[in-house]
Amino acid sequence: MFKALILEQDAEGLASASIREIGEDRLPAGDVTVAVEYSTVNYKDGLCLSPKGGGLVRNYPHVGGIDFAGTVEASDDARYKPGDKVVLTGWRVGEVHWGGYAQKARVKADWLVPLPEGLTTAQAMAVGTAGFTAMLAVMALEDHGLSPEKGEVLVTGAAGGVGSVATAILANLGYEVAGVTGRPEQEGYLRGLGAARIVPRADLAETVKRPLETETWAGCVDAVGGAMLARVLGQMKYGASVAAVGLAGGAALPATVVPFLLRGVNLLGIDSVMQPVENRKRAWARVARDLPIDKLEAMVQPATLADLPALGAAILKGQVKGRVVVDVN
Ligand code: NDP
Repeated sequence: MFKALILEQDAEGLASASIREIGEDRLPAGDVTVAVEYSTVNYKDGLCLSPKGGGLVRNYPHVGGIDFAGTVEASDDARYKPGDKVVLTGWRVGEVHWGGYAQKARVKADWLVPLPEGLTTAQAMAVGTAGFTAMLAVMALEDHGLSPEKGEVLVTGAAGGVGSVATAILANLGYEVAGVTGRPEQEGYLRGLGAARIVPRADLAETVKRPLETETWAGCVDAVGGAMLARVLGQMKYGASVAAVGLAGGAALPATVVPFLLRGVNLLGIDSVMQPVENRKRAWARVARDLPIDKLEAMVQPATLADLPALGAAILKGQVKGRVVVDVN
């Protein structure tokens, strides 16, 4: 038997969560069984934990948790053996497949990566999907020519998970980081992560009035989308790139194509879910190298399975600071 946070639907089809002891025979099919140590709370976890499953959960009963780290308990795949430390992010685990909000998970070996050298399982989940995606975004900007001497880099949703990790990585790499936040009380936190400038959310909240504004940003990691992304596109320097990661502020993009045509601005899409395994390993190795552990620890709040329903609701309201590490045991 093991402990899991099970989501079940009521007669109206609305899901709610409770902690249950269940048998291993309930685990889905897969080639590797993992004793989960830590999971976390990403924006998408908030959606999956919500009463309607955020349009992501297909079947109930369900176990959420889009990422986890732990130790292999049994494996039918030659790449993994009992005792190996592993990390899982993406592949629609926690949405379509049962995820990390349980003491055990069973998944395909193809979905796992070995725990990156230099990180503990708790630190890997402090990074989690949000931090891994922030790294993918920084890598995409670098691949498109970003370097520290090009100028200031903007991070939107800076006090959130993606934003906090992006801020810390960019600052550590020598970039001058400007963080956009709607929470002025988090200025000290963001400066501690390395932000040199704080941009109030209200400065970028209005929809585009002029398609081109002053060329300001050499790069941008955008966790917000919506009207803010549209505004930012018009403020990018000539030839600069925005890595579009999230939609915390909305999925619509009320923009014009003018920044692309007159300033050669690039809009780079970042997907963490279906990333090929080699790029996953590259990104995790970069996280282990480029994200200072003291900065990572400054972002973390600890939690247990019992805290998840409240944390899921809070992250959808933009009220979670940094990263949550869930000890599932
Ligand atoms: P968080 O909630 O931790 O961070 C989002 C931040 O955005 C908030 O903390 C807040 O920052 C800001 N924000 C929230 N609401 C608004 C709003 N209405 N307008 C402007 N800013 C707002 O979530 P995550 O960091 O986990 O995820 C961020 C986004 O990235 C989500 O949309 C998520 O789905 C997406 N994502 C995408 C991935 C991919 O593969 N493409 C992978 C991981 C995440 P502040 O208070 O500082 O303003």
